[in-house]
Amino acid sequence: MNIAYQSSSNKPKDIKFHNQKLVLSLFLANDYWSIPQISEEIKLSKTSVAKIISGMEQREQIVSLGKGTSTSEGGKKPELFRLNSEYRYAIVIDIGAEYLVGAITNFSCELIGEPIYKNATEATYEETVQMIYEIVEMLLRTSGAATESICGITLGCDGIVDMDKGIISCSAHKKTWAKNLKIRKDVAEKLKKLDLNCEVYVDNGCRYIGFADLLCTDTRQYQCIATIYTTKEFLGGSIIQKGHLLKSANGFMGEFGHNIIDPKSKVRCECGNYGCLEALVSEKNLIQILNEKRVQYPDSIFNTSDLEADMEHIFAAAMEKDVLAGKILSESAEYFAISIHNMMMTFDPEMVIIQGEYARAGEDFLHEICKRVTQLNVFGLDRIPHISLSKVRNTEDLLKGYAYFSILNYIAEKEPYR
Ligand SMILES: [Zn+2]
Repeated sequence: MNIAYQSSSNKPKDIKFHNQKLVLSLFLANDYWSIPQISEEIKLSKTSVAKIISGMEQREQIVSLGKGTSTSEGGKKPELFRLNSEYRYAIVIDIGAEYLVGAITNFSCELIGEPIYKNATEATYEETVQMIYEIVEMLLRTSGAATESICGITLGCDGIVDMDKGIISCSAHKKTWAKNLKIRKDVAEKLKKLDLNCEVYVDNGCRYIGFADLLCTDTRQYQCIATIYTTKEFLGGSIIQKGHLLKSANGFMGEFGHNIIDPKSKVRCECGNYGCLEALVSEKNLIQILNEKRVQYPDSIFNTSDLEADMEHIFAAAMEKDVLAGKILSESAEYFAISIHNMMMTFDPEMVIIQGEYARAGEDFLHEICKRVTQLNVFGLDRIPHISLSKVRNTEDLLKGYAYFSILNYIAEKEPYR
């Protein structure tokens, strides 16, 4: 269970609020719950749980599935409840280099209809804000969701973002955009026309993508999870503690791509430094290494065929035991391992998930990383986080991560319990 809350004080009002949050978060994590199960799970009396459940039913946050049939021992199966998927909706927008992608999900993070794509290759910042407005308007219209049922709007972009202030400090793709753009304020201003009264969240999209893996049940036992999201050119990530992003002073939290792995490296990163993880494991650098080493491996498929040297083919060749491809990926594994080692020494995550392009690099690659992280362990201690390759593959599932972030934030607010 990665969603747990700590009560800030022992006042009865705060304890009640804390318990309500805890029960609602259980429904996000598990389809069906009965009062005895909840009572057992959160160590609260059945009477208190029954009161909370009754309030949640009245607010239409959950629905009853009716009384169960008799058990073989002659007892009554308890009444089961599940989340009311239509209680609230979340709007999500990814501001990519080429497209804006928008979608709306229900309270169970299921997408309603198809995502909307708008070409934004040449868009100025002002045009982008206008397009965000148009996407939100279109999503509301096509889904039929009421404006008061929207629990949050999540905007994900690239570059360095100050999530607390809602400012894009520096966009990575949009080179012509100014620095320190107050996007949350500008978007909220535009959305006033739609009578929307919900939170607008802004962060680097990699942070929200981290939440996509939290929707998989096998992450629930971990309290502190680091995610590394990889594309062919970029690498970012998130640190999620008890279902919430770790606070960041300057918007750098989770920017694992700019961990300097090899300060003497000649590989220059977009950020201006040399030897950053992002630059070392990029497709461009993999091809560079391949071209440098290929003469030593005449039997490699990259020498015996006209197979194009790109990331996808290097991964595929490594899985087919091509020695050259294996060497290249082994170098990447080393870089990831150093970065994970450094994570262990700074915030010590229980789990590290590699998402995006490198999630397709195969089990051998994963084993190589685990082996290297173990070798780097301090004082010969055999303690490493659980490291895995993400199962999330398509855009729709990544967008669910954006929605899950805003839904978790919504249930942490006081508003849903009034
Ligand atoms: Zn860098």
